[in-house]
Amino acid sequence: MAEKDFKDIVSHAKEYGFVFPSSDIYDGLQAVYDYGQNGVELKNNLKQAWWKAMTQVQDNIVGIDSAIFMHPTIWKASGHVDSFNDPMIDNKDSKKRYRADTLIEDFASELAKTDQAKADHIVSEMNRLLSESDLKGVYDLIVAENIKCPISGTCNWTEVRQFNLMFSTQVGSVADESSTLYLRPETAQGIFVNFLNVQKTGRMKVPFGIAQIGKAFRNEIVARQFIFRMREFEQMEMQFFVRPGTELDWYEKWKETRLNFHKAIGLPAEDLKYHIHEKLAHYANAAVDIEYRFPFGFKEMEGIHSRTDFDLKSHQEFSKKKQQYFDNDLDENGKPFGNYIPYVVETSVGADRLFLAVLCNAFTKETTVDGEQTKERIYLNLHPALAPIKVAICPIVKKDGLSELGQKMYKELKTEFNASFDEKDSIGKRYTRQDLIGTPYCVAIDYQTLEDQTVTVRHRNSMQQERMTLEEVKNLLRSTATMSVLLNSL
Ligand code: ATP
Repeated sequence: MAEKDFKDIVSHAKEYGFVFPSSDIYDGLQAVYDYGQNGVELKNNLKQAWWKAMTQVQDNIVGIDSAIFMHPTIWKASGHVDSFNDPMIDNKDSKKRYRADTLIEDFASELAKTDQAKADHIVSEMNRLLSESDLKGVYDLIVAENIKCPISGTCNWTEVRQFNLMFSTQVGSVADESSTLYLRPETAQGIFVNFLNVQKTGRMKVPFGIAQIGKAFRNEIVARQFIFRMREFEQMEMQFFVRPGTELDWYEKWKETRLNFHKAIGLPAEDLKYHIHEKLAHYANAAVDIEYRFPFGFKEMEGIHSRTDFDLKSHQEFSKKKQQYFDNDLDENGKPFGNYIPYVVETSVGADRLFLAVLCNAFTKETTVDGEQTKERIYLNLHPALAPIKVAICPIVKKDGLSELGQKMYKELKTEFNASFDEKDSIGKRYTRQDLIGTPYCVAIDYQTLEDQTVTVRHRNSMQQERMTLEEVKNLLRSTATMSVLLNSL
C-alpha cells in the first residue's frame, strides 16, 4: 500500500465518523484523538474480541480493571522513574525536538537506498551507544554523519538528553514532592500489584493469567502517524504467571496464540511477522514483537515478553510484602514445588494500533468496468463481527407501507444485532454509505416483501443480491457476524 493511501485512510477515518482529532474546533491537540460514532463501535468490538479470546476462551485467565493512579513507589519499583526515557535532541534553528534514535533511523533508512552496509553500520553503532547510555556518543554520531534537521536543514544541534515519558500530576491541595502521582505509562503494573489479591480470592493455580484493558499515557517526544503513536492510548495486556523454568515454553505458546488472533480478526498472514529482540532488557529472557505491515512499513503492533520474576520481586522488595505463591504440585522427586515467586510471560497490544491495522487492512478501493464506464468504489472489508453496523434496513420507497414494514423488521433485528434503518436518498446511495463504514449486509424492503415477507440481501464485498426471509437474514447474521463466529476461528 503506497504512502498516499495512508492519507486517504486518515481522511476516510475522519469523514465517516471513525477518528477525529481531539479538540477539533480548537485546531486539535497533537497526538490525541477522539473516536467517533463508528470508530467507537469498531474499537469496542476489537476490545471485546481480545477480552473474550483472552478470558472467556481460556480456562485460567481472569480480568481486572485497576486504577490509572497508583502509589508513586510502584513506578520506582518497576524502573519507570529511573529508566523510562527516550533520548531527545533539539535543533537550535528550527526549535524542533526529535527523538535522537528516530532521527538516526530515518537518516539510515534514506541512506539504505544507496548504501545498505553503511546504513546498517550506523544503526548498530547507535544501538551500541544507547545500550551503554552513551548520549555524548549518540550526539557525536549525529554530527559525524552530518545528519540535518528536516525542517531547518542545519546541523545546529543541542546535546542529547534523556527525557522521561511519564506524565506527572499533583494530588491534593498542597503541591510537594510527596503528592506527585504519575499517569500510568502501562497497565501491566496494575496487574502485578494485584497478583496476590486475584490469586487468593480466585483460588488461582499457577499457571494462570490476569488480563486488563485500560488507558495508558506517555509523553511521546515525536508523535506521528495518526493513532499509531499517541500520548493517551489504550492497552490490552495479559500477564501469565508460570512456574520458573517453564516460561520459555509458555512464551512460545503465547507467541503463536497471539499471531493466530490477528489472523482470526482478518489481518492477512503475509502482512504479519515476528521481530525477535536480540538485545534484551535486563529483566527479560526472551522478547518478540508482532509487526504489521502498515502503509508506512512493518511496525510493532504487539509485544510478547518473558519478564522472569523481575516485577514481582521488585514489588516484594519495595513494598516489603511477600509476593510468593505456594505450589503444592509434586516435582519429579515427589516433593511439592513449594514457595516461589512466579515468572511472567506478558502479551501487550495497543487497542489503537490494532484499530489502525484493521482499518488499513479493510480500506479497499475497487475499480469496476461497467460497459463504457469505469467506476471506483471504496468499502471497508471488515470482518462482519467487527463491523460497527451489521445490517442496514432499507425500504426502497417510503410510501405504500414499505417504511412501516421496514421499521417492524428493524425492531426485530436491532436487539440482537447492531442494525440501522435508512430510508433517505436512492438505494444506491444508501448502499454506498454502508460500504464506506463496512456494513456487511443491506436488506432492501420492496413490494414483494409486502406479499411474501422476503427481502433482498445485498452483500458488501461481492455486491451480490439474494432473496430470503427475515428468519434467514437472522441466521446469516448469526453464522457470520457474531463474536462467537470470530472466536470459533481462533
Ligand atoms: P514503541 O517501540 O512503538 O514505542 P513500545 O515497545 O514502547 O512501543 P510497549 O511498551 O511494549 O511499546 O507497549 C505495548 C504496546 O502498546 C505496543 O506494542 C503498542 O501497540 C502500544 N503502544 C505503546 N506506545 C503507544 C503509543 N504511544 N500510542 C499508541 N500505542 C502505543
